Amino acid sequence: MDNCIFCKIANHEIPGKIIYEDDKCIAFLDLSQATDGHTLVIPKQHFDHFLDVDQDTLKHLICVSQDVAKKLLVKMNAKGMNVITNMNEVAGQSVKHFHIHLIPRYQENEGFNPQYTDRSELVNLDTIYQQIHED
Ligand code: 5GP
Ligand code: ZN
Repeated sequence: MDNCIFCKIANHEIPGKIIYEDDKCIAFLDLSQATDGHTLVIPKQHFDHFLDVDQDTLKHLICVSQDVAKKLLVKMNAKGMNVITNMNEVAGQSVKHFHIHLIPRYQENEGFNPQYTDRSELVNLDTIYQQIHED
């Protein structure tokens, strides 16, 4: 897709620190390095986000993400890993080419620190459950 930075990296039109590549996808180091080894896994074909990707490609990307995550864990001596994808701006997506973040973790409270607020006192679980099941 024209003007997509990740398409350009996937096509080798602009440089990226690529740590894995096959005919369908690449994994390369994220410029921001939220933690050391922060990596993005992307399909070579352009899809805007998670919901747009066809399931064969998605399955392949998940398997590659697992392989790359294992390698990062060993090579970077990480203790854990956050595996996330952001969909749309409201969820923090800034590059509209589907990507999976692999963020090695070494300690708590470092460059990436997802926190889930406990809102159980504020919501009605039954109402939410019913809304999801409604036709
Ligand atoms: P998002 O916010 O969309 O989930 O993640 C986009 C990520 O792409 C960010 O973490 C950002 O650092 C990274 N990024 C943006 N532009 C480039 C680039 O040109 N090269 C690389 N390697 N990473 C990029
Ligand atoms: Zn693209």
